[in-house]
Amino acid sequence: MLSNSYNHVLVLFSLLVAILASYTALDMAGRVATSQGKAKRCWLAGGAFAMGLGIWSMHFIGMLAFSLPIPLGYDPVITFLSLLIAVAASAFALWLVCQNTLPWARLILGALLMGAGIASMHYSGMAAMRMLPGIHYIPSLFALSILIAVGASGAALWMAFRLRFGSPRVKLIRSGAAVVMGIAIVGMHYTGMAASQFPLGSFCGAANSGIATNWLALLVIVVTLAVLAIALIVSVLDSRMAARTAVLATSLAEANHELMHLALHDNLTKLPNRLLLEDRLEQAVHKAERDHSRFALMFMDLDGFKAVNDAFGHHVGDDLLIDVAARIKQSVRAQDTIARLGGDEFVLILELAKPQDAAAIADKLVKAIDEPFSIQRHALGVSVSIGIAIYPDDGAESRELMANADAAMYHAKDAGRNGYCFFKASMNANAQEQLQLLQDLRLALGRNELLLHYQPKFCAPHGPIIGAEALLRWMHPSRGLIGPDTFLELAERSGLVLQIGEWVLDEACRQMRAWHDQGHRDWSVAVNLSAQQFAHASLPQTVSDTLKRHGLAPRHLTLEITETTAMRDAEASLVILRQLADMGVNISIDDFGTGYSSLLYLKRLPANELKIDRGFVNELTHDSDDAAIVSAIVALGQTLKLNIVAEGVETQAQQEFLTRLGCDSLQGYLLGRPVPAAEFAQAATSQATA
Ligand code: C2E
Ligand code: CA
Ligand code: CA
Repeated sequence: MLSNSYNHVLVLFSLLVAILASYTALDMAGRVATSQGKAKRCWLAGGAFAMGLGIWSMHFIGMLAFSLPIPLGYDPVITFLSLLIAVAASAFALWLVCQNTLPWARLILGALLMGAGIASMHYSGMAAMRMLPGIHYIPSLFALSILIAVGASGAALWMAFRLRFGSPRVKLIRSGAAVVMGIAIVGMHYTGMAASQFPLGSFCGAANSGIATNWLALLVIVVTLAVLAIALIVSVLDSRMAARTAVLATSLAEANHELMHLALHDNLTKLPNRLLLEDRLEQAVHKAERDHSRFALMFMDLDGFKAVNDAFGHHVGDDLLIDVAARIKQSVRAQDTIARLGGDEFVLILELAKPQDAAAIADKLVKAIDEPFSIQRHALGVSVSIGIAIYPDDGAESRELMANADAAMYHAKDAGRNGYCFFKASMNANAQEQLQLLQDLRLALGRNELLLHYQPKFCAPHGPIIGAEALLRWMHPSRGLIGPDTFLELAERSGLVLQIGEWVLDEACRQMRAWHDQGHRDWSVAVNLSAQQFAHASLPQTVSDTLKRHGLAPRHLTLEITETTAMRDAEASLVILRQLADMGVNISIDDFGTGYSSLLYLKRLPANELKIDRGFVNELTHDSDDAAIVSAIVALGQTLKLNIVAEGVETQAQQEFLTRLGCDSLQGYLLGRPVPAAEFAQAATSQATA
């Protein structure tokens, strides 16, 4: 046998190349597994090429490390063939580990095929030397080399399969696996070499015609390192990009989620909004339909919220809404939907075991909200009116349920607020009625159906008459005479109140002019203003035009605005009120005591008169709380040098008591009911002559 020897530096180098090739292959497997379509095919082809080239060049470096005492060479065709075998085996291996599953049977088959591939690459590489006589292989070592090839392939496949997807420590594990694989590949090669024996007198048939070893060596090493390096760099760059794309995709998903949330929730209370409510309601209907079950839809509207908002500003109002939402949440179960429709309206969807449950929960809600709230150091009181509609009794579809719960809520309001009301079929008739009334009201001005009644104002305790308050009436074609409580809210909601208000002002001034002409020169007329009229910047101009039209001195007109209206937009109100006061018109603060005036603000108002709300007067007995309130209001008015009027005086006792407390003027059924103008003048004349 020819004696052989190894160059140890090259042996070590071959090991390094094997490890590097393995690492690249494992890395590529990861890229293949996480990419798709064309990219996946590219990574598979690139990975197979890099790995095949790596294994193949490892073999040739190993061969360079090996020397025989005769010149050696390699047949180019067979050499190229061996490279093809290595690439094909690698491609197969990569494809295998990138499948979704790797059952044992497939792993074993894969190991056999890949092992055979590596072994045939090695032995065809050996055949490329075209030794004569042929190489003698020791059977046991030959078999061992094949076994190592198969075993190493199996281990490599299994590891690559497990490492397909990135994990936090994947680089470290992958490096370990690459070392194991590299050692296995090198081990196979050198076992195969140990199995080969070259008989004495052998010579290499490819030594002269084949590729010279030295040049081959340089070429192989340079190309291999270059390919592996490029493959790794591309892979690293790509995985970075993939990671960045993944981060972008997650933040995009988060942003989407956030947007969805914003679109479906109320910003203030974080409760579902109308959009989400509609969706949930549809779902509730479907579910109840399927299960033949019931649920309740509750419409909640706060009572007295507007007054709080007007008096304390939106910040306090907003905080109050947040607290109200929290109390509602505490009163219901987690699976119930609470939504805010905007303003002070909330809606609840409640699953019901039995219908009575709805009453119990509504009762609980009413009580919870009736407790005082403490907002920004103010103690505030609001209550809630609830309308309840039950599926399927009160509506088979969501729109009907909503409309009916809404109608029931208005009934709860009419029934005195701070309570709940179940929907009844008769309530819908009411909604229809309102619609009809609104249509009639639109026509009322043109048909001259509106008129004014006048209620006298007396100097306390019983006269003389100092003027009259003009109170609106409507002679409805079919209903007869109706009062403002029936249609004013409708007029406000529809905006008709602006036209109506202008008419009232004009008619009252016209009437006063007529009375002046009849000799009642010291009378003045009081006209009520609605919040909407007051919000119009043109109001001072309208008032001044009207006065001029009728030749009435401004001091003969009193404008009554409620305390709440004056408080609404305090600063804007001040500007308008100043303009009116500068004109010489009297300003009266109506329904005083029901709002939340601040004393400081009141001091700045250019008002001449306070009208104590008739609610206090009504309840007046000597030792009641109302007596204390009225006497406080009177004292306050006197300090601010305001004229104090008590309205709603119905009894002599009230008349006496209010006079004693210091009220300047009195108004009420006891002294005179609101009557048409003609009757008013008559009564006044007879009183004067009496
Ligand atoms: P208000 O300004 O507080 O007017 C006094 C109301 O109390 C009138 O009701 C009057 O009829 C009633 N009243 C007078 N004396 C007594 C009494 O001794 N006992 C009782 N229980 N009530 C008495 P009316 O005419 O139904 O008006 C209701 C409200 O409608 C008024 O309350 C006012 O806020 C509003 N209003 C009336 N006319 C107009 C108007 O022309 N424009 C605007 N914007 N609002 C008006
Ligand atoms: Ca009034
Ligand atoms: Ca009043």
